[in-house]
Amino acid sequence: MYIAGWGRSGTTIVDNIFNSYDNVFSTGELFYLWHRGLMIGRKCGCGVKFANCVTWRSILAAAFGDQLPDPAHVVELQKQTIRVRHTQSLADGVLSAEAQEYLDIYTKLYHAIAEVTGAKLIVDSSKVPSGAALLTRMPGTVPYLLHMVRDPRAVTHSWMRAAPPPEKRNGSTIVQSPTSSTVHWLARNAITERLTRAFPGRHARLRYEDFAADPQAAIEDLLDLAGVASADGPFVDANTVRLKPNHTIAGNPSRFRNGDIAVEADDRWVTEQRFGPRLTSTALAWPFLHRYGYRTRV
Ligand SMILES: [Zn+2]
Repeated sequence: MYIAGWGRSGTTIVDNIFNSYDNVFSTGELFYLWHRGLMIGRKCGCGVKFANCVTWRSILAAAFGDQLPDPAHVVELQKQTIRVRHTQSLADGVLSAEAQEYLDIYTKLYHAIAEVTGAKLIVDSSKVPSGAALLTRMPGTVPYLLHMVRDPRAVTHSWMRAAPPPEKRNGSTIVQSPTSSTVHWLARNAITERLTRAFPGRHARLRYEDFAADPQAAIEDLLDLAGVASADGPFVDANTVRLKPNHTIAGNPSRFRNGDIAVEADDRWVTEQRFGPRLTSTALAWPFLHRYGYRTRV
């Protein structure tokens, strides 16, 4: 199950909750395995440097033996052929040699994840819709698309107060302007919606706000869609979840948390957001606000 959408939409916590069910393994943002995992050496969700994680070492060995692709080369393939603007042609066009090479790498990777972890469902929260498009061409897998959406004003507010990830405390803080965040929000959502046609009967849209209001129901509906049993899941009560340790790549710093977590809506933007950013987000996103059931007044 591939989670697509724009950043700050709740994908990390959803991914971590999925990982806490039996027969499910969440990869985090598998798209960034090569750059953030292998080249920069960020930490796996289990807390050790990615290259030292026993689980991922086993997966990479099962996928590639001693023929691990050069991470810099895979990143170059991503830059050339797996761009967001290529999404639709990756789903229904003729694949270039580079896209085919990339697909072959990810096919080996996905099959190795299933083999090593024993999971029936792999959850990949890469968000980039072009990665989802390619899954529809992958032999031996049944792909599902989860489109996550959040009120664009909340998303803007989150980007404006973004904290650097713990392993990057001396680096620059990732911040998006209200215009940039909302333009990306519009583009990602439009492209992801169009892509749902490549996942007949195997796609769902989840609003962050609906997830936060009833997380157990939201997650278990999605497990039902994918045909994975949700009995004896990690929910202690409807809003408290016992997170297992995970092996996720990239994503929000909250991925390092485990144990009992209360899921509650982060709606700080309602009281904290200044008028200017709120007006910018509302005006730009206006055509889609109604579509997703968000209020259209500023
Ligand atoms: Zn790990």
